[in-house]
Amino acid sequence: MSVHDLARLLRRRRWAVLTGAGISTDSGIPDYRGAGARPTSPIQYDDFVSTAQTRQRYWARSLLGFRSFGAARPNPGHRALVTLSDHGLTTVITQNVDGLHQAGGSRSVVDLHGRIDRVICLGCAAVSSRAALQQRLEAANPGLEGEVPASRAELDDTRLRPDGDAVVDRWGDFVVLPCQRCGGVLKPDVVFFGESVPAARVATSYAVVDDAEVLLVAGSSLTVMSGLRFVRHAARAGKPVAIVNRGPTRGDDLATVRIDAGTSETLTALAANL
Ligand SMILES: [Zn+2]
Repeated sequence: MSVHDLARLLRRRRWAVLTGAGISTDSGIPDYRGAGARPTSPIQYDDFVSTAQTRQRYWARSLLGFRSFGAARPNPGHRALVTLSDHGLTTVITQNVDGLHQAGGSRSVVDLHGRIDRVICLGCAAVSSRAALQQRLEAANPGLEGEVPASRAELDDTRLRPDGDAVVDRWGDFVVLPCQRCGGVLKPDVVFFGESVPAARVATSYAVVDDAEVLLVAGSSLTVMSGLRFVRHAARAGKPVAIVNRGPTRGDDLATVRIDAGTSETLTALAANL
């Protein structure tokens, strides 16, 4: 199907969009679930909360990763959605934690899985700036340099190499900082594996889908139920679902319009056709 079919479906209708990692790959943020991605062993919520070493490992890698993460900029896909908000798009529900929809100019965004540029205290629930914490972490851990291991498998590999032990030892020395208000454990304000999306955020997302006449999925393979449930919800309500994604998705059998293509070019063409 073509972008014209998509435009015909959305024209003069109220619609919402659910976005995933695929919309941010053109901003240089890798899609860990996309085709060809290396398998990863993400940190589990329970492990993060209960184990000090896990938090050391997380924040050591996060300190290194955040140095380049902050450099990502919105791409044509993000910008097209800003234009499309004048053509029936009500709200962006995103599974991404990169904040690029807001950086691109979108006003109505639900950050389903949270935001990597924020930190939340597990003690007092205070939300604070990740950039400010980065400065504190850099000051508390001077001279920390290194590659960010992409996966647990890679970690186990590095452990076998002479310099690999140095990486592991460095985590043991890594200084993890507590909440400045209550001394509690700080966690990135993102939903970890093994953690539920906050109920209020889920309810807001269902309300967005209920208010829309069509749901568009852009750049998600709908691997996790946290996104797929909104597609099923829309389909159960008899609403058309359109999917733009490179490669198959778990929602394909529910889609009225299915376009196997990238989001940058497709959403830009859509904005020109509505
Ligand atoms: Zn606190």
